[in-house]
Amino acid sequence: MADLAFQRNFGIAAHIDAGKTTTTERILYYTGMTHKIGEVHEGAAITDWMEQEKERGITITSASVTCYWKFPTVQGQAIPGTKQYKFNIIDTPGHVDFTVEVERSMRVLDGLVALFSAVDGVEPQSETVWRQANRYHVPRIGFVNKMDRAGADFLNVVRQVREMLGAKSVPLQLPIGAEDHFKGVVDLVEMKGIIWDEATLGMTYQEVPIPDDMKEEVEEWRNHLIETVAEYDEKLMEKYFEDPHSITNDEIYAVLRKATIDMSIVPMLCGSAFKNKGVQTLLDAVVRYLPSPIDIAAVKGVDPRTGEEVVRKTDPKEPFAALAFKIMTDPFVGRLAYFRCYSGHLDAGSYVLNNRTGRNERISRILQMFANKQNPIDFIEAGDIGAAVGFKDIKTGDTLSDPDHPIVLESMFIPEPVIAVA
Ligand code: GDP
Repeated sequence: MADLAFQRNFGIAAHIDAGKTTTTERILYYTGMTHKIGEVHEGAAITDWMEQEKERGITITSASVTCYWKFPTVQGQAIPGTKQYKFNIIDTPGHVDFTVEVERSMRVLDGLVALFSAVDGVEPQSETVWRQANRYHVPRIGFVNKMDRAGADFLNVVRQVREMLGAKSVPLQLPIGAEDHFKGVVDLVEMKGIIWDEATLGMTYQEVPIPDDMKEEVEEWRNHLIETVAEYDEKLMEKYFEDPHSITNDEIYAVLRKATIDMSIVPMLCGSAFKNKGVQTLLDAVVRYLPSPIDIAAVKGVDPRTGEEVVRKTDPKEPFAALAFKIMTDPFVGRLAYFRCYSGHLDAGSYVLNNRTGRNERISRILQMFANKQNPIDFIEAGDIGAAVGFKDIKTGDTLSDPDHPIVLESMFIPEPVIAVA
């Protein structure tokens, strides 16, 4: 049985062009799922190029991509106590036309990385997605990308998130160097500088002292962070009044995690995905602040036989219940139904009840999507995301359940897209 505390189901939402694709590609690189990043350089072997295209293709068409991240690390390297976290990154389409699709994916993810451009800040689509995330109570962290661009302004975007989106955004980092000279960040919790190594494409980093000319600003924002976090915890507040220096980093992390999950605070980070800086600390923040499937409330539904309310916990011992959130046609396996398993355990080859059709259908195979391959798995359990092969009749929004323990998951009204006729 997988330890669900070490799993994160999250999405990345952004206005088009803010850098979602680049960030996702970097995530797959840093998690070891792909071995190359960036443009195809002249002279690169054609097979390399095809390999890259294939990786890109599957990544881009997948509704969910699975990868693994090691945390914590020091200077990018594993240390005693480093654990492996499983990430299911659920695609949230970035284009305004796909708003309905965004709603669908919001339903099944546990947390969100809201990605902004450091130059353009909060844009119309980031607002739309933000409000949808509010509606589905999706906790989030912010990532301000493109810090290397002329006019990049991290703190301005933090302010916009507060003023335009009404969130208590708080910076956890300050950039070291601006625009072309953007090199790294000061971590306001650990109070140290991080400079990513260019030679390893940011796979490793150096810890450096806080630059002298930043000390005052760092002190000011560190206080702001502690004050904001202390407001959410009485014990911390008492300590803050007695002696702010007595507050430990672990206390800050624990309270900030709680406040992020109950959507009281939005921690903000910065970087440049394109320049291989900051995506690594973003992944650490996904682990630290975004909820695991067991941090999420139990799902509610109705027993279609009795009309009675049923509650299902994120527990593999409960009866199986899942929600299909995206149906796709895959060139290799045909119809693929991506689903989130909320409770129970499902073996490949077994039957599930589709409550909409009233039919039991056999799931011939269950797949998990990696950057460059579709991985057949023997079973899936509560909290995980998979794709099922074998359905004859399946639609987005269908509840799938154990035939002996039927449930229709609490209906979330998702309007069908209106397709304009030219
Ligand atoms: P998406 O539409 O959000 O998926 O954005 P893309 O990842 O496709 O990026 C849009 C453009 O911005 C591309 O030309 C990227 O190379 C560029 N880009 C992405 N991230 C950065 C960054 O951190 N810095 C700079 N300078 N350009 C970036």
